[in-house]
Amino acid sequence: MERITEELRGMGFEGEIKEDILMRDYTSLRIGGICRLMVEPFDPYSLKLLVELLNSEGQSMVVIGGGTNLLVSDEGVDEVVVRLRNWRKVEIVETYRDEVVVFAESGIPLQTLLNFCAEKGFSGLEGLVGIPGTLGGAVSGNAGAFGYEIMDRVDRITIMDKDRMEVIKRDTLTPGYRNGAVKGIVLAVHLRLYRDDTESIKNRMREFLEIKKGTQPLNEHSAGCVFKNPEGDYAGRLIEEAGLKGFRIGDIEISRKHANFFINLGRGTSRDFIGLMRKVQEEVDRRFSIMLEPEIKMIGQGINAH
Ligand SMILES: Cc1cc2nc3c(=O)[nH]c(=O)nc-3n(C[C@H](O)[C@H](O)[C@H](O)COP(=O)(O)OP(=O)(O)OC[C@H]3O[C@@H](n4cnc5c(N)ncnc54)[C@H](O)[C@@H]3O)c2cc1C
Repeated sequence: MERITEELRGMGFEGEIKEDILMRDYTSLRIGGICRLMVEPFDPYSLKLLVELLNSEGQSMVVIGGGTNLLVSDEGVDEVVVRLRNWRKVEIVETYRDEVVVFAESGIPLQTLLNFCAEKGFSGLEGLVGIPGTLGGAVSGNAGAFGYEIMDRVDRITIMDKDRMEVIKRDTLTPGYRNGAVKGIVLAVHLRLYRDDTESIKNRMREFLEIKKGTQPLNEHSAGCVFKNPEGDYAGRLIEEAGLKGFRIGDIEISRKHANFFINLGRGTSRDFIGLMRKVQEEVDRRFSIMLEPEIKMIGQGINAH
């Protein structure tokens, strides 16, 4: 890793390079061991230099956004972790009578983008209110709620695949439930939105947020929904029916407010989190013959082997 740092510094790379940081400081769950190298390129050229260098060194990498859908191993991460947190530009690029196209860079916090759109009177993203993390993370996982999904509003996506930048039209992709179906690193997104008045948009956002606050533990350390909803049902309902609300392993507890959220009470570990996932999968399978599939993304050493 030291060689990568030195080479980057010597080749005109602009960005932040952090060594031996704790991943728990970069995730909403507050879990995760040491990452030997985290790199935050400031511009596409620096990202390209980084990707080329890592490819030539045979060093793998993983991109993260706000870390709000992530479980990171207690044993740390071997990959170089890349963040685009400084990529936050947002601008209106096409305007029509009823529609607009907004360009936004992938590191922008999703809620900053929603507020920008509400102020300008651009509708289409209201259901995503209260979802933490970045636009890049939202597109990668096709984040959604209240019948809204981000990919429904995407017109095209600028990505870096290997070391090539490409613009992918939305209609060439087949996104699904919590799957944006995008390959490579999401650099920026063009969103197609409708004109509406700011007050109506804000009212819808307030209503959705009230419901979200009433049903989800928004102020606790979680990674959102742990499992995907199975076809025609809700993972939270199944976990609750299995009698597991409030069940705890170590410092990881199944939320009493919403059973598909696992809360880190303070000293939670990825080992306990995975243990709790297994317990839930076994109980739900035993009772309802349904195998729940993880929605959260897992990274780091041995994370699937606990
Ligand atoms: C309290 C709470 C409530 C939540 N509510 C919802 C909800 O209602 N609906 C919902 O869908 N989700 C919800 N989530 C989950 C999470 O916030 C979303 O999935 C969010 O979109 C993840 O964005 P992120 O930037 O944090 O991504 P991260 O967690 O950092 O990463 C998630 C995945 O995206 C990939 N990724 C991130 N950035 C990029 C990029 N630029 N290019 C390519 N891949 C990238 C990562 O590699 C990883 O695989 C909630 C989470 C919390 C904590």
